[in-house]
Amino acid sequence: EVRVRYAPSPTGHLHIGNARTAIFNYLFARHNHGKFIIRIEDTDQKRDVKGGTKSQLDNLKWLGLDWDEGPDIGGPYGPYRQTTRYKENVYTPLIQKLIKEGHAYYSYRTEKQLKEDRAEQKAIGVPPHYTNEYEGMTPDQKKKYVADCKAKGLKPVVRFKVPKGKTYSWDDIVKGHLSFDSDDIGGDFVIAKRSGMPTYNFAVVVDDHKMHITHVFRGDDHVSNTPKQLMIYEALGWKAPKFGHMSLITSAKTGKKLSKRDESVLQFIEQYRELGYLPEAMFNFIVLLGWSPKGTRELYTKKQFIKLYDASRLSKSPAKFDKKKLAWINNQYVKKSDENEVMDAALYELIKAGNIPKDPDPKTLEWARQLIRLYKPQMSYMAQINKEASVFFTEPKKVEGAALKEISNDTAPKVLTEFYKRAKALPIFDQYQILHVIKSIQKDTGIRGRKLWMPIRIAVTHEMSGPELPESIELIGRKRALNHVSETLK
Ligand code: GLU
Repeated sequence: EVRVRYAPSPTGHLHIGNARTAIFNYLFARHNHGKFIIRIEDTDQKRDVKGGTKSQLDNLKWLGLDWDEGPDIGGPYGPYRQTTRYKENVYTPLIQKLIKEGHAYYSYRTEKQLKEDRAEQKAIGVPPHYTNEYEGMTPDQKKKYVADCKAKGLKPVVRFKVPKGKTYSWDDIVKGHLSFDSDDIGGDFVIAKRSGMPTYNFAVVVDDHKMHITHVFRGDDHVSNTPKQLMIYEALGWKAPKFGHMSLITSAKTGKKLSKRDESVLQFIEQYRELGYLPEAMFNFIVLLGWSPKGTRELYTKKQFIKLYDASRLSKSPAKFDKKKLAWINNQYVKKSDENEVMDAALYELIKAGNIPKDPDPKTLEWARQLIRLYKPQMSYMAQINKEASVFFTEPKKVEGAALKEISNDTAPKVLTEFYKRAKALPIFDQYQILHVIKSIQKDTGIRGRKLWMPIRIAVTHEMSGPELPESIELIGRKRALNHVSETLK
């Protein structure tokens, strides 16, 4: 049975790269009728932000993921949080076993000494590495050294003894055959900290084994950890799972790995949620970051992705975060979404921005609903209505630039004067009557097309584009619309 896991370190909100890792594991599990497991990797307690786990899980649920075992629901191989597993003594006996069998040892070198070692290595131009502090000692000297360290009250870490001159390799599901020389990985590495807490590289091996994980899909920032983990599997006599290391997501702006500090892209799922993006659309967008189905179609439901998913189509090259595609995919979903789904979410955003009151009266509510229906075809996310429809809430800025040029022709004043007169006289100010007015101006003056429509649009909205004009004018309201027109005519 296929068993895969998503193993976040709960350092805060769900990052888009982590969401992608979770989704690819999820799709692999569901496609293969296997199990999808969530495990919290919090051995690095400094990084465990309060509420981090809950936020991670909430955001995964929002994206439409569900799991078979995890910290919130338990399962047959729990607990699913590493600090709890540590307390339940999952790791320490195995560390002891490795020490007893000569695969690991206590290392007393202090942080200060290690820093000095590194400085020295740098000075002579060799890559940073740890050299076994016992090297060259006789058994008696060793005994004395340890006794001295203990007498000084030094707490040791446990280091894994890296086999010399061996090659560790695997067939990576994404990257193909990869191999590492054991002499190049920086020397014997730490598997338990001075506190006794295991490090990531050790705990991940124990947990993947004990949880019967068959495939590990993770970011390619972990490639260099894999040989270390393979050594631990070997020393414990366990079979390693298959690995697939997925390419990075890069910023279209810098071309480099998407960094949390890059402000040109929103990077946390929480932020998309707050802005009223639709979860199904975000799921679709994220899957296409580094994976593609056959053909050119880009819109799929979760169910279709599960059916189609094929890990061998994960891309070897970095996935560019394309903001145009983000907007396009999201717009496709908004356009075809159920009106009620969009309505409540967009009303929430209008209220949040203070553009309509918290408890709108029926008239305002109906007005807002009509506004949302009007903008729905061009929206990618709900908060966009506040920006796109700003002309409905605030007085527009002056007509300038291209727009000004557009209405500085000899027929524009005539169109606007006629529009003002006829619109003012309308018994009912609605889109049908307004359309009728515009058509009648065309008929009576012979002015048509852009020369007819553009001056009216610009005068009323101060924009050169927007949704259906008659309906927009209705929603702006007679008083404001006509004020704008007379202002322009001055
Ligand atoms: N806790 C690790 C991370 O957040 C997961 C690494 C792994 O999947 O093995 O990057």
